Amino acid sequence: MAPKNSRRPPRPGPLDPEDWSAFRAQGHRMLDDMIDYMAGIRDRPVWQPIPEETRRSLRVPPPQQPQDLSTVHAEFMESILPYATGNTHPGFMGWVHGGGNPAGMLGEMLAAGLNANLGGRDHMPIEVERQIARWMAALMGFPETASGLFVTGTSMANFLAVLIARGQALGAGVRRGGLLKKGTRLTAYTSEAAHGCIAQALDMSGIGIENLSIVAMDEMQRIRLDALEKAIAKDRAEGALPFLVVGTAGSVDVGAIDDLSGLADIASREKLWFHVDGAFGALGVLAPAVKPKLKGLERAQSIAFDFHKWGQVPYDAGFLLVRDGETHRATFAAPEAYLRRETRGLAAGSPWPCDFGPDLSRGFRALKTWFTLKVNGTDRLGEAIERTCAVARHLEARVRSEAALELLAPAQLNIVCFRYRASDEANAGIVADLHESGIAAPSTTTIGGRLAIRAAVVNHRTDFADVDALVEAAIRFGKAFEETS
Ligand SMILES: *Cc1c(COP(=O)(O)O)cnc(C)c1O
Repeated sequence: MAPKNSRRPPRPGPLDPEDWSAFRAQGHRMLDDMIDYMAGIRDRPVWQPIPEETRRSLRVPPPQQPQDLSTVHAEFMESILPYATGNTHPGFMGWVHGGGNPAGMLGEMLAAGLNANLGGRDHMPIEVERQIARWMAALMGFPETASGLFVTGTSMANFLAVLIARGQALGAGVRRGGLLKKGTRLTAYTSEAAHGCIAQALDMSGIGIENLSIVAMDEMQRIRLDALEKAIAKDRAEGALPFLVVGTAGSVDVGAIDDLSGLADIASREKLWFHVDGAFGALGVLAPAVKPKLKGLERAQSIAFDFHKWGQVPYDAGFLLVRDGETHRATFAAPEAYLRRETRGLAAGSPWPCDFGPDLSRGFRALKTWFTLKVNGTDRLGEAIERTCAVARHLEARVRSEAALELLAPAQLNIVCFRYRASDEANAGIVADLHESGIAAPSTTTIGGRLAIRAAVVNHRTDFADVDALVEAAIRFGKAFEETS
C-alpha cells in the first residue's frame, strides 16, 4: 500500500480529468453515439457535400483555453461525423474501401487507451503483432520463418518490398553505397493493371520509374507472361539486371488476378524477387470460392495487403508479409543498435518491429485486427468476402438486363464496370449525381478509352438491394441528363 499523501492530486496528471465519474459518463455517451451511428448507418445518406459554413466553422485559431469534452464532442457530431467519406455505408462502392466493423472499432479504442509503442522492447502488444504475422503466414502458405509487419497501407508495404528486393539483388552494401556505387541498372516488371503506387515505390527507392517495365495485359486484364519474358530478355541484352516482378492479386480497375503460378515460374527461372500486390485480393484466401484463383500466391517472396479493405478492419492496417524474415530484417535493421540489445528487462525482446521497416514509433494496429479476426472468425470474414462477389455478380446480371446500360467489365471478383449508353460527360454527371443524391457512391475509371461507372463491392454491408438502387438511380439520372441536354 502506498502511503497516504494528502497533497497527492486526484488525477495522475494535469491532462487527466479532475472528475473521473463525469468523464466516464461522457465517455459512455460518446461510445453510445458511435454505436448508434454504426447501427443506423443505413438510414443516412452515403455521402453529402460539406456546407461551406461547416467547412469554415473548423477554421479557428489554435485553441488556447480548455473546452468541455462534451462541447468538443457536440462539435464532432454536428460538423464532422455527418460529412465523412461514407465507406461504412452499404451504398459505398467507390475505389476500394473497406467498411470497418464494430469489434475492430472497440479494439482501436482499447489500443488508444493502452497507448503502446510497437517500435520495440519486450511487451505483449508486440506479441499480438507477431501472432498476426504467424496467422497470415499460415493462411497464405508461407513458412514459419516468415516475417510480418503492420504499416499504413499497401502503398507503403509495396515500397518496403521494393527495398528488400533491391538489397537481395545488390547485396547489403547498397544500403551504404547506394545505387550509383553499384553501377548496375536494376529493372522491375509489372502490368498495365498495376496500382500507381508500384511506380511510386520504384521512384522512392531511387531505382527510377523508367526502370519499371509496364507489361501488356490480356483480355482479362492479367499480365501477359510472354510479353513479360520478352521484356526481361530485352533488358538483359541491354546489360540491365532484372530484379523484381510485381504481380497483382485483385487489380483496382476490374479485380483481375494475375497468373501467380506463371509469374512464380518465371521469377524462379529468371532469379527475380516475386512480390504480390494483394492489397484487397490476398485476403481472398479466407474465402473458399476465391482461394483457388490465388494459386501461386504461396510461392511469392513477399505479399503486401490491407486488412482495412476486404478484411474490414478500421483504417489503417496495411501489412507486409515476407517469406524469408532474415532478408527482411537485413534490409532495415541497424547493426549497431541491433547488436547492443538487452537480453532481459523491458529493453529485451529483439528483434523488434523497428528492425523490419523505417518506422520507430508505431501504434498498435495489431489490436483492432486481432479483435476483428477473433470476434468474427476467419470463416465468417471469408463468407463476407464471398458475399461481396455474389453482390457484384448480381449487379452484373442487373446491368446485362437493362437496355440503357452497357457492361464494360464483368465481375471477375467483386468489381463491375458499366456505363449508361451516352457520352463520357453524361456518365461522369451520373456518378456525381449519385454521390450528391446520397443513394450510392461508385467511382469512375476508363476502360477501352471510355469512361466507366465502377462499382467495387468491398464493404460487408453492401447488399443486393443496394446495387439494385444503384442501377435504378443511374438510369434515372441518365434519362434526366438526356432530357436536359
Ligand atoms: C488500395 C490498393 C493499393 C494501395 O493501398 P493503400 O492501402 O491505399 O496504400 C495498392 N494496390 C491495390 C491493388 C489496391 O487496391
